[in-house]
Amino acid sequence: MSRQSTATPSSITEAVSDSVADTPPSGVSFVRGTRRATTPASDDGVRARLREIVGDENIIVDPNRFEPYSQDAVKEKFAPEAVVFPANAVEISAIIMLANEVGFPVTARGGGVGYTGGAVPVEGGIVIGTDRMNRIKEINFDDLCVVTEPGVTTYDLQQAVEAEGLFYPPDPSSYKESFIGGNIAENAGGIRCAKYGVTKHYVLGLEVVLPTGEIIKTGGRTTKNVVGFDLTMLMTGSEGMLGIITEATLRLIPLPEATRTVRATFRTMREACECVPALTRARITPVALEVLDARALEVVEAAGVLKFPEDAGALLLAAVDGSVDEVEKDGRQVEEILRARGGFDVERAASVEDEQRLWDVRRSLSSAIKRYGTLKLNNDLVVPRSRVPELIERATEIADKHQTFVVNFGHVGDGNIHVNFMCDREDAEAIARTRLCVKESFQAAIDLGGTISGEHGIGYVKAPYLSMALSPAEIETMKRIKHALDPRGILNPGKMFV
Ligand SMILES: Cc1cc2nc3c(=O)[nH]c(=O)nc-3n(C[C@H](O)[C@H](O)[C@H](O)COP(=O)(O)OP(=O)(O)OC[C@H]3O[C@@H](n4cnc5c(N)ncnc54)[C@H](O)[C@@H]3O)c2cc1C
Repeated sequence: MSRQSTATPSSITEAVSDSVADTPPSGVSFVRGTRRATTPASDDGVRARLREIVGDENIIVDPNRFEPYSQDAVKEKFAPEAVVFPANAVEISAIIMLANEVGFPVTARGGGVGYTGGAVPVEGGIVIGTDRMNRIKEINFDDLCVVTEPGVTTYDLQQAVEAEGLFYPPDPSSYKESFIGGNIAENAGGIRCAKYGVTKHYVLGLEVVLPTGEIIKTGGRTTKNVVGFDLTMLMTGSEGMLGIITEATLRLIPLPEATRTVRATFRTMREACECVPALTRARITPVALEVLDARALEVVEAAGVLKFPEDAGALLLAAVDGSVDEVEKDGRQVEEILRARGGFDVERAASVEDEQRLWDVRRSLSSAIKRYGTLKLNNDLVVPRSRVPELIERATEIADKHQTFVVNFGHVGDGNIHVNFMCDREDAEAIARTRLCVKESFQAAIDLGGTISGEHGIGYVKAPYLSMALSPAEIETMKRIKHALDPRGILNPGKMFV
């Protein structure tokens, strides 16, 4: 008899986690930074003062060691003039005051696995690495919160709280490399967000060093707090442009006991997507709801991972979580609904091994896709979930029109679809066509009531497209906030508004 499936929610994240080292550069290079030749950060006197602040062993000025801090997952390089590793908010404050005094850019860096160039010093200056600020200060079961420094990886935080029977749901696939500070700055999402929400739904309070060097505390450790403007939410998702996060208090929930996954193929993407409201009508909120389109199935088949029935045009993975009894009951009901809606070749996990096997199809995709091009333009488009089939149809039509290969898959539970256009890094003409695809797919997402980024942010990569998604008045309001907090423009220049 097979063992009962008691896979924890983390095993779902594990199942779709890409290996960052293995990921082809997304290379979504639309603009180049307007890098000045040098800034005062290259000055010996300024470097001596930085040394005094962080200590000799915590500064890099040797250009041969800059490479890891010159890039993120986009893999385009803009070298810093120095990299410093402060230990706390006071040191960061001193660095920022120096930057204001003599005038050089400062860019905060977490795990360096952003997809939009956010942590890259496009205008030079210094990079502040938060690697040394990696202590989890407190896990409080009674208050359901964790107090952490920003340099803890998402994975380490999840493991630490799960050991106490608690759960931190946001789970970007980069979770083994990404830092909590980077997650908050990007308001990261992930596979479990359809049920549990994104990073901002878990940020209760922050300690932040402002671009003028003042250290402020925002929010607190209560879920209810309506005193004044919500500075915690202003900082969350601000992409390192409004302040440097030096401590975070994050909301936790009790850890669900088990998960159960059901996988089914469908003739069409529309059929697969129709299961989403059907599950809601049955009062089931899956922890993960992922779709793969026909091209994604082709890719998986070509890699020899799995053979699908001839008429399979889409695949749906649905996972529920809860107590062992709940997942047993809900898992059966999910299976019934998927079958009733046209699902065939349906499998429901009966063991932990089964869970892992069912997710193989999704796990294999990132590496299988590589044979379709050396450059993957990975766009995290988001639309209301009822419009997902149209988005995928439009993306496919756009790719066909420009003779480009596209693979669509992602989080149908929250409408966030990864539209991956493939081309060859060496083929300039193909890259130009692929960029047209990207722009037209952005427009398609907007036309369908969505927007150009659900989780990766803007950085410098999507900055030229900001005005497609936001009105002039919205952009102007954001610029005013930026200017009010950072009058000298020292924090992460060259991002979002260029
Ligand atoms: C393979 C892969 C899979 C991914 N999957 C997902 C996914 O499922 N969901 C998702 O949302 N994203 C995903 N991403 C994108 C990325 O990993 C996330 O945006 C993540 O939150 C970045 O964290 P990081 O620590 O690497 O940040 P970095 O790349 O180091 O920095 C990102 C931004 O945050 C700022 N920043 C960093 N630390 C601080 C701080 N302490 N204070 C203020 N600002 C700071 C930086 O200045 C920069 O603007 C993925 C990326 C890869 C490569």
